[in-house]
Amino acid sequence: MRTPLHTATLLAAALALAACRTVPAPAPAPPAVPPAAGVPADDNLNAVLWMQRSMEYRAIAESVFRAAGERLDAALADPAWDALVPAERAAAGDAASLPPAIILDIDETALDNSAYQARLVVDGTEFADPAWDAWVGERKAIAVPGAVELTRAAAAKGITVFYVSNRSAGLTAATLENLRSAGLPVQHDGVFLGLGMQVPGCEQKGSGKTCRRQLVGRGHRVLMQFGDQLGDFAQPAANTAEQHAALHAEHRAWFGERWWVLPNPSYGSWEAAAFGGDWSLPRSERRARKREALRTDR
Ligand SMILES: [Mg+2]
Repeated sequence: MRTPLHTATLLAAALALAACRTVPAPAPAPPAVPPAAGVPADDNLNAVLWMQRSMEYRAIAESVFRAAGERLDAALADPAWDALVPAERAAAGDAASLPPAIILDIDETALDNSAYQARLVVDGTEFADPAWDAWVGERKAIAVPGAVELTRAAAAKGITVFYVSNRSAGLTAATLENLRSAGLPVQHDGVFLGLGMQVPGCEQKGSGKTCRRQLVGRGHRVLMQFGDQLGDFAQPAANTAEQHAALHAEHRAWFGERWWVLPNPSYGSWEAAAFGGDWSLPRSERRARKREALRTDR
């Protein structure tokens, strides 16, 4: 309810206001430089901020892992359930009688390296191996939301949790220690399959994970795979938007069933696909190519 104001009260208030207006406080001088002007633009600011601070990111990651966990029993019960693409499974051998495993990528799938990404934004720099290796050596990455619950639940069901990662094999000790300190199961020292690992009888091209997946598949039925990039699940024929789309279309039914994707808007092969994978291009040229790849008509 409104309180009626007395006429005299209104008059007094009007006079007081008028008095104030006659003696205005000096307006503060506008700042010579707007506060934002000194902050350099960075293509990754929003992406990293979203991953670190938004509850939307957290909720999505938790949803992915929770949904996967709810399918584990069905996967265990079905001897035909396997998450390697047919060519990789054929090369690895029949899976039906093998013990169960799941495969996780590490970076932005099991472990959250957004603090490293944030340093790049703050420092205005880009990914470089020495700084990355130093960050890994700090062993300070935290778990991606939901990853601990899923992997521990899997381990409790007798499922071996493998980590197939493009962290170099030289970072094994720091990586295993960080996985453990983040709460992720490390059931034996062989569960980390890093970049550079040689797999007998399999010739690996570049940083692809095909041979390492096959190695896991030789000894295990792979119930599920988790990753933030398509290459964590199967090898695209080329790192182009067209081949990414082809791989997605071919295995679409497996996403949300055998393959589980974590969101990562801060980096990935999708980005390099926009500029032909040519990291030698100047940053400004790569940015221009990415702008050209935007769709503005649909
Ligand atoms: Mg990753």
